[in-house]
Amino acid sequence: MSVSDELFAEALKVMPGGVSSPVRAYRSVGGTPRFVKRALGSHIVDVDDKRYVDLVCSWGPMIAGHAHPEVVAAVQQAVADSTSFGAPSEVELRLAQAVVARMGGAIDKVRFTCSGTEAVMTAARLARGITKRPLLVKFVGCYHGHSDSFLVAAGSGVASLGLPDSPGVPKEVAGDTVALPYGRIDLVEELFAERGDQVAAIVTEGVPANMGVIVPPEGFNRRLHDIAHAHGALLIQDEVLTGFRLSPTGAWGLQGAKEGWTPDLFTFGKVIGGGMPLAAVGGSAQLMDYLAPEGPVYQAGTLSGNPAACAAGLATLALMDDAAYSRLDATADRVSAMADEALESAGVPHRINKVSNLFSVFLTDAPVTDFASASKQDTKAFSRFFHAALDAGLWLAPSGFEAWFCSTALDDDDLEVIDAGLHKAAQAAA
Ligand code: PLP
Repeated sequence: MSVSDELFAEALKVMPGGVSSPVRAYRSVGGTPRFVKRALGSHIVDVDDKRYVDLVCSWGPMIAGHAHPEVVAAVQQAVADSTSFGAPSEVELRLAQAVVARMGGAIDKVRFTCSGTEAVMTAARLARGITKRPLLVKFVGCYHGHSDSFLVAAGSGVASLGLPDSPGVPKEVAGDTVALPYGRIDLVEELFAERGDQVAAIVTEGVPANMGVIVPPEGFNRRLHDIAHAHGALLIQDEVLTGFRLSPTGAWGLQGAKEGWTPDLFTFGKVIGGGMPLAAVGGSAQLMDYLAPEGPVYQAGTLSGNPAACAAGLATLALMDDAAYSRLDATADRVSAMADEALESAGVPHRINKVSNLFSVFLTDAPVTDFASASKQDTKAFSRFFHAALDAGLWLAPSGFEAWFCSTALDDDDLEVIDAGLHKAAQAAA
C-alpha cells in the first residue's frame, strides 16, 4: 500500500470523497489520487517520493512554475508582516494597478475576491443590479464556478462527474439562467428576439476550457457583445482561466483587442493570485462604481485582497513578460505536437483543440466544437491514457474535459520525459 493509499483511506473518513474539490478524487479515471508533498519548478513530488512533470499547474495558476524564488520571497515578506489585515494595503493597490495597466484600457477598476466563483457571482450581481433584469445567458459546458446561478449545464468537474446541474440549486434560481449550446449564435439571436428585454448579461468564457478547450467560432464573442448591447444587456467575459495566460491580455488580447470591442465586465483568477486564493472582477469605472460602498450593489469579503495573495499575484505577473509568453507558447506547441504524434503513431483516434498555449486532447475522431461533441470522447481509453502517463511521471488532469496547462518552468529535460510518457500513455489507450 502506498502512502497516498493510506492517506486517502484516512481522508475518505473525514472529507467527502477524501478531497476539497471533486475532480481531485480521480472518480472519472478511477484509482487513488496521489497526495502531494511538495512542488518545485515544473515538478510535483508525491508522498511516496515519486516525481512528476506537471501539466496541470494547479489548474492554471502556476504559470511560472511552483515555488518560484521571487514569488516565495514576496510571500515570505508579506506574511512576516501578518497574514491578513482586514484593511487596505499597498500591495493590494499595486496588484490592482498592475492588473488594470496590463489590460491596456479595457478596464479602469477591479474588486478583489478570494475565488473565481465569487468573482463571477459578483459580476452577475453587478449586471443584474445595473440592468434591473433577472436573466443570465450562459453556454452548455462552460464553467463559471459553483454558485447557484452557474450550476446549470456546467463544465469542469461537474461535467466529468456527469452532474452538470446540482441538487440544492432552487429551480427558481436555475430558471433565471438560460443555457445555450456553445457557438450557436442563431440561438442567441432567437433568445434575444423573444426575451432580450429580460437579459441582464451574457456570460461566456473568453475561450471555453472547462469542457476541454473549444476554439470559439470566428467572430462569436464579438457577436455576443453586439447582441447584448443591442438589447441593453452586458457581456461578462469570464477570464478566470484564460486571463494573463493565453496572452499578456488573456483571451481578450487575441480577440476583442484586435477587433476593437471590449466586454463590459471581466473576471480574473488563477494567474493573478500566483497560486494563492485571489480573483477579481474588472470593468469601467462607471460600471464598477455600482459596487458598495460607491454604489448600491453589495459585495464584501473578510480575506478579500489578502496581502500575501496579492504579493504572490504581483510577483507572478512581474515574471510574465513578453519573453515568458513566447517561451510558454513555444513549449505548448511542442507538448501538443508530442501528444498528437504519440497518439497518431499508436493509432488512437484523437482531436487536439488549441488556442495559443492552452490545449486539450480529446480521444475521439470527430471535431469537438461544443459540450455534446466533447462528450463523445472515449473516457475508458482516456482513463488508460491517464494512468499510464501517471506511471511514466506525467501529472495530467484526471479528466478529458480539462485543459492541459504548461508553465514557463518546463525545460528540455522535462520535454523528453513528456515525450516518452505520452508514447507509453498512447500505447495504453490504443
Ligand atoms: N470561471 C472559470 C472560467 C473557471 O475555469 C473557474 C475554475 O476553474 C472558475 C470560474 C471558478 O474559479 P474558482 O475555482 O477559483 O472558484
